[in-house]
Amino acid sequence: MTQGAPSFSRSLREGGGSDFVGTIQPMLKLSRQDYDALRRHGEKTYPHECCGVLLGHMDDDGTRTVTSTARAGNTRTDSAHNRYNIDPRELVRIQREGRERGEDIVGFYHSHPDHPPRWSSTDLAEAHWFGCSYVITSVEKGKAAITNSFELTGSDENDKQLVDEMIDVA
Ligand SMILES: [Zn+2]
Repeated sequence: MTQGAPSFSRSLREGGGSDFVGTIQPMLKLSRQDYDALRRHGEKTYPHECCGVLLGHMDDDGTRTVTSTARAGNTRTDSAHNRYNIDPRELVRIQREGRERGEDIVGFYHSHPDHPPRWSSTDLAEAHWFGCSYVITSVEKGKAAITNSFELTGSDENDKQLVDEMIDVA
């Protein structure tokens, strides 16, 4: 009975979400104000990349909730249209100021001017904060377009991955 096979595999797919059984679905929550702020930043620095830091807290269910964003300067002035780097001293300052408000670093964002909002091999290579969100906004002809977020998973530099996660704008 070969007819049975297609409907069986179809019903498996219709089950949906089976990848997430017993695991935590990564998610980033942020306010409309913070969401708009990082997108506006990408428009402001166009045609160069913007970059910044997401501050907030990590919930027990793995959700990262953003309570503020901090703009950072892009130190990559040589090739700022496809590379970004936050000055380590600026990052330390942002982290300290966040802690004074009871906030932790929960992620980073940058823009892709006239480029899809997918992470590049450079983005992965330069991502080192496990369990944090990496948000990428595409900016098309100066206007913020699609915004995606990825969680950096893994335990070390060899097995790290950027995994799609949902963005919940409240
Ligand atoms: Zn990038």
